Amino acid sequence: MEDKRYNPFSGELKRVFGCRVHRISIDAGFTCPNRDGTLGTAGCIYCGGRGSGSFGIARGLSVACQIEDGKEIMVRKYKAGKFIAYFQAYSNTYGSVDLLRRLYDEALSVKDVVGLIVATRPDCLPSEILGLMQEYSRKTYFWLELGLQSVSDRTLNFIKRGHDLATFVNAVSKCKERGIRVSAHVILGLPSESRDEMLASASLINDMGIEGIKLHLLHVMKDTHLAELYEKGEVRVMDRDEYVRLVCDYLERLRPEVLVQRMTGDGGRDYLIAPLWSLKKFEVLNAIDAEMKRRGSFQGRSILTSSVPNFSAASGPHPVINFPSISTSPPV
Ligand code: SF4
Repeated sequence: MEDKRYNPFSGELKRVFGCRVHRISIDAGFTCPNRDGTLGTAGCIYCGGRGSGSFGIARGLSVACQIEDGKEIMVRKYKAGKFIAYFQAYSNTYGSVDLLRRLYDEALSVKDVVGLIVATRPDCLPSEILGLMQEYSRKTYFWLELGLQSVSDRTLNFIKRGHDLATFVNAVSKCKERGIRVSAHVILGLPSESRDEMLASASLINDMGIEGIKLHLLHVMKDTHLAELYEKGEVRVMDRDEYVRLVCDYLERLRPEVLVQRMTGDGGRDYLIAPLWSLKKFEVLNAIDAEMKRRGSFQGRSILTSSVPNFSAASGPHPVINFPSISTSPPV
């Protein structure tokens, strides 16, 4: 366990594989029903629809090529030993079983790839695709990432997600029945959400036994409807201290077993309008560590009556946390 007051995903990877394992982001050429006309074409209000600068280059390259390129960088920068293929861009279950199997198998065939993470929307999981997810859950180290973003249907409607909370709950229930591990994406700072509404998703994650979480800070990106609202002064973004306090409040409400896979977002320097402080990602992560220490707190404190040894023992200097993803994809 790293010297952290929360349960970091990097610690899980070290425990499982005994070495440094890094995620390599892949753009496998998918789209999503909120973009291809099935539900709409404009997408979620915060989604730029370009994928991102990094994915702009990756799109069109084979899955294996993208992984080989990513490996080279990860080995050079982090001395990574093993890799997880991260199907990140857009909705990575939005295709036929045959297509998905071919792409996932291509990823797993690359040397030193030891698992898969597949990010998707909760409304892109028909039963045959759930069956496929179950199959990969059994044969490799596997996570399914599902976009939740908010537990408020009012907010989901406002951000034009194209699905409601019940769809997410239903998808997670089916994953649990099949033994598929789920990580939820949540955005903090969505327009008009109160602090309590933002924190409410921690209870849902606890109650449903969801195994992982990715917390994203709301980013205002160029060429989005959110950017128009921001420029008109109709939405605001959080300042850094506000965000840091909110993340700490969130962690305190989260079961200690939940693996924390992300605590801020990757806005992408070329497209980010606000908040610009988020570009200094390691400063944000270090500020969260410092605030948890200042509070004498730890993940799950609000729901536990007794202390959790791994976290309560944490003290001393804060090592820089290594979140290896280099992509700037919009949340699924
Ligand atoms: S954020 Fe994800 S779900 Fe929303 S439009 Fe963009 S790709 Fe689709």
